[in-house]
Amino acid sequence: MSQSFDVIIIGGGHNGLVAACYLAKAGKSVLVLEKEASLGGATASQQVFPEYEARLSRYSYLVSLLPQKIIDDLGLSFETLGRDVASYTPDGDVGLFVSSDWNQESEESFRKITGSTEEFEEWKSFYTEVLHFAQVVAPTMLSPLPTRSELREAVDHPIWDELIERPIGEAIERRFKNDLVRGVVLTDGLIGTFADAHDFAANRCFLYHLVGNSTGEWRVPKGGMGNLVKELTAKAKSLGVTFITSTEVTSISADRQVSCADGQSYMSEYVLANCAPQVLAKLMQTLKPQALDGSQVKINMLLQKLPRLKSGVDPKIAFAGTFHFDERYSDLQEAYAQSAAGIIPDVVPAEMYCHTLTDSSILSPELAAAGYHTLTLFGIHTPAALFDRDNEGVKSEITTRLIRQLNTYLLDPLEECLAKNSDGSLCLEVKSPLDLEESISLPRGNIFHKDLSFPFREDGTPVSWGVETEHPNIFLCGAGAIRGGGVSGIPGHNAAMAVLTLTD
Ligand SMILES: Cc1cc2nc3c(=O)[nH]c(=O)nc-3n(C[C@H](O)[C@H](O)[C@H](O)COP(=O)(O)OP(=O)(O)OC[C@H]3O[C@@H](n4cnc5c(N)ncnc54)[C@H](O)[C@@H]3O)c2cc1C
Repeated sequence: MSQSFDVIIIGGGHNGLVAACYLAKAGKSVLVLEKEASLGGATASQQVFPEYEARLSRYSYLVSLLPQKIIDDLGLSFETLGRDVASYTPDGDVGLFVSSDWNQESEESFRKITGSTEEFEEWKSFYTEVLHFAQVVAPTMLSPLPTRSELREAVDHPIWDELIERPIGEAIERRFKNDLVRGVVLTDGLIGTFADAHDFAANRCFLYHLVGNSTGEWRVPKGGMGNLVKELTAKAKSLGVTFITSTEVTSISADRQVSCADGQSYMSEYVLANCAPQVLAKLMQTLKPQALDGSQVKINMLLQKLPRLKSGVDPKIAFAGTFHFDERYSDLQEAYAQSAAGIIPDVVPAEMYCHTLTDSSILSPELAAAGYHTLTLFGIHTPAALFDRDNEGVKSEITTRLIRQLNTYLLDPLEECLAKNSDGSLCLEVKSPLDLEESISLPRGNIFHKDLSFPFREDGTPVSWGVETEHPNIFLCGAGAIRGGGVSGIPGHNAAMAVLTLTD
């Protein structure tokens, strides 16, 4: 006889945990089945370099989209920390500095790089308009989907057309003149998304990077991303959720019999898929949805010291926000064209961020006192297809290019700053899209499970939470749902609400 539950959740990523908490809180019996030995999926903190006590956010690293309401509803003790520096972009021997509050120093930096303050004025007005959009859209995320017309009327501003109706590349090219400034703006449309600036996939990605909590501010998870998992797991356990880890679900029948690789099977009224929609399709033997390949390389690093820069800026400022390099608009477009033609880009656009400048608690006290730091590098426009032929070889080539590119801006070469393992190897871990599929089941390494979608339903389509599937008792509760991508808990919350609406 199969054991029976009200709800079975396939996958214990953070969204699966959020859904489990809401459902258990409402009195449902919940079973979470997780393939890996540990919970959290793409939100794990791990001691990546075993000889050093540093717990890195191994995959996702910054938080913006997680609504405060979810933290409050579930009583989580999870804090995020703001950053004074928004970004720094070296350009030859100078650099573009942008503070989070667009201060005088930022204005001066724009003037030095572009020759006037025109681009700075445009920057302020563009992002003020985007903020208006965010303030309208963010509060709708935990309710059934608004229609396109409802949301457009609520926004009631020309920014709607720039972000939704026309390719984002048009707005960037019209509003900004400088190649470097244009590139910094566009990068938010390309994180984890393999798209040309004139492809609507870039609009959708841009939107998710700028609406979080009505501000679009990206904050550092105190104690690392794994802290969110720790809090959610403790909460779910206290509410009586049953967890079985190291158990891969191998099939789901339409009448919700869930079978696992170890031969066990379980029954439930409802099934929530925290795994990607492509994985769900395989488990149910239905047609796989179309999705873009993941297109990023993530490099985790531990450093003995931060490198000094040729521009003379203090490394504690340069690396405190997002450090962009080789992300000019022309670099991004050229890298996209080369990768789309199956060639490793000559210049791989990339950005980096240092967790420990904002929160050193992920380091042991000894490492923190000795001045160690972590750096996370995110290389873009490196789609999974580039790695199919020779994953290790292509990773090595891309890493070499990235370090060479980065070193052109540094006084201290990166290799001299990286911590070393006792065998002399550098503390540097490279994850390609194929590695992400292998380690955390992200199809083709797509960090959002599948392409992001606009946060509304078309006029005339049925009322929806954005989590529904063709089976009335089976819902998505992961990044692949509408309004799903990123560390947000939103699809977890919305899937739980879809079930509770049916059972109340
Ligand atoms: C390298 C990287 C960097 C990122 N950076 C950021 C960032 O800084 N900020 C941000 O907001 N987002 C970021 N993201 C995206 C974000 O992490 C994800 O979109 C989000 O965490 C997905 O959460 P989830 O719970 O929906 O799914 P997942 O975290 O993917 O969890 C799904 C779970 O399902 C399990 N599973 C899959 N198949 C099965 C099966 N057959 N049986 C049982 N279990 C199964 C998996 O093992 C996994 O634990 C990043 C992602 C990556 C990979």
